[in-house]
Order: sequence, then structure tokens, then C-alpha cells
Amino acid sequence: MAYHGLLHKYGSLLDLPTHTRPVSLLEGDTPLIPALNLAREMGGGFELFIKFEGLNPTGSFKDRGMTAAVSEALGRGATTVICASTGNTAASAAAYAARAGLKSIVLIPQGKVAAGKLAGALAYGAQVIQVDGSFDDALSLVALISEKHSICLVNSINPYRIEGQKTAAFEICDTLGSAPDWLCLPVGNAGNITSYWAGFKQYDELKSTGLPRVLGVQAAGAAPLVLGHPVDRPETVATAICIGRPARGEQALQAAEESRGRIIAATDEQILDMQRTLARLEGIWVEPASAAGLAGLAAEVGAARLEVRAKRIVAVCTGHGLKDPDIVTREMSSPKIVPPKLDALEEAIL
Ligand SMILES: *Cc1c(COP(=O)(O)O)cnc(C)c1O
Repeated sequence: MAYHGLLHKYGSLLDLPTHTRPVSLLEGDTPLIPALNLAREMGGGFELFIKFEGLNPTGSFKDRGMTAAVSEALGRGATTVICASTGNTAASAAAYAARAGLKSIVLIPQGKVAAGKLAGALAYGAQVIQVDGSFDDALSLVALISEKHSICLVNSINPYRIEGQKTAAFEICDTLGSAPDWLCLPVGNAGNITSYWAGFKQYDELKSTGLPRVLGVQAAGAAPLVLGHPVDRPETVATAICIGRPARGEQALQAAEESRGRIIAATDEQILDMQRTLARLEGIWVEPASAAGLAGLAAEVGAARLEVRAKRIVAVCTGHGLKDPDIVTREMSSPKIVPPKLDALEEAIL
């Protein structure tokens, strides 16, 4: 059966107004990839799958929520959408707005957005504004301006973003036949963890697919939900989760509690280490933030804080490594140069 995008496939399960006019890039339907090598590296004895959200049209899971938010905005007659972004929301909003014929404006924290994300937003024709402040400052600004003017806010405060993002939980259950025992994922502004939990609960009520325990992972330098208070100057290489005041923090804590899971922090070193390990062992290259869920999982399993024997675990890898190539290249010396001669090549590689 041909695939027509998320609203076509799951629209009847999403709480969207009737005026919604679907705008799709055929997002979603991402693979659930078995990660045998990585599971073995972590000690083995359990099943591990990667939900590779980097394979969405603009390279991150944000497209799931954006198809819903922009479709609603278009149907309502909006002409302009706006968001604050650590990068991926910007690229996604810009792409869906372009497709819908809407103007997009994105606010990014100055100097804290990976090159590939900024380039995407510009390529899709967004008006990009840098804010001399944090993501949290940018989010406060767009919330204010969208209340004052008729500009549609498409951050995950927008309820339709959450509706759209529930579809990832539906897909996991459809693929596995039930919910996994554990779901681990990175947590930034906490829209995604909120969506997954809502999605799993809805599917369980509808199809008795069961519920996972949820392991949310923040970066240690941006871990307000672990510390129990906002972080004024969040710092982490995982720019997509460099957020000190998560808009849906309460809901994230609730998801962790209700699911008998938890929210923990991983250091930048653990995150970058997992990013490399995942690429080298499985051929899956994700951006740093996307490796946070797995980094947290590995730490918990390694310290025997999490019983995984015979369990089925899904790790959500939220965005593609191509968005943030600098992180990899800046830590390595540039590749060796040889003259175009066979003996030189032999000497270099044999
Ligand atoms: C947005 C984003 C996150 C964090 O998701 P939240 O919904 O803000 O918690 C994690 N990883 C990537 C790649 C993202 O783009």
C-alpha cells in the first residue's frame, strides 16, 4: 500500500480540528533497526532496537509534529509560522511552511545551532533571527509575539505538535506487535517524551499493546529535571537538548513516574562516546543529542541499575549525524594525503 504520510495513516487517532489541511513530506514510517552489536557491547541478553528518526524528511523527528502543526495552521488560514529552535525545529518548520506556501520565521540562540540545521532553515527560505541569549530566551520571545500578532507558534507548546509526535509510539507498537519493555530517549524541551507517553497510553487503551517504562536522558550540563530546578546557563555539546527550562518539564516527570521509569543525566563525554560507538558498531550516525538516550541506557545497564535480561528495549535516535558534522571532524586530525601512486596507497593502508 502506498504511503501518504502520517496524517493520512494515523490522522483518525490524532486530536486535530476539522479545518486541518494536510501538508506532508511523507514523514514518519522510520525504521526500527535491530542493534545486535551494540546490545552485545552493553553486555547482551536483551533485545535492542533503534528507532532512527534521523531518516525523516528534514533529518529529525520534529517533522512528525510539524506536519500536524503546519496542517492545522494552514487550515485555519494562518499566513506565518514562528518558532524558537535549537535547530531541528527551525529546519522542520521552514520546510513544512515552504510546502504549505506560508512564511516562516525562526529564532535561534546565537552560536548554539549546528551548521547543518541553520543551513536547512535558510535553504527552505525561513527568515532566521539570532537571539543574543539562550533557547529559553528565544522561546519566551516567540510566545509573546505570537500572542500579540497573528503569527502561529509551532513550538511544542502547540498541542498539535504533541499530537503528531504520538505517531512514533504507534509505529513502534505496530512494528513490534506491542510496546517495548523500556523506551529510552533524549529530553530537551520535553515535548517528545510527553508525546511518546501519550501515544503509548492511547494505543494501549485501543489495542492493549501494553506500556513501556520510560528512561528520559538529559545532558548533564542541561539537566533541570534531574536537578529539580531550572538551569540558567545550560551548556552541552548536544545542542538539540541544551535547554534549561523545559516547557513540558512537568509532563516529562509525570511520564517517568507513571511508567515507573526515570529521568537521568549523561555527561558530554558519555554522549559523544555513544555517538561514536553507535556509528562504528551499527553504521548508524546520529547527532550528539540523539545518542543521549543510549548513553544513559548504557550507563544504567553498566552500573546494574537497570534489569534488562530478556527485555525488549527501543532507543529513540532523534536526529541525523549529517546535521552536525563539525562535532566529528573537529575532534580528528584530517585524513592523510598520499600522492596518486599505487605504492604510496599500499604503504598508507597495508
Ligand atoms: C528537539 C530534539 C530533541 C529534544 O526533544 P524535546 O521534545 O525538546 O525533548 C532531541 N534530539 C533532537 C535531535 C532534537 O531535534
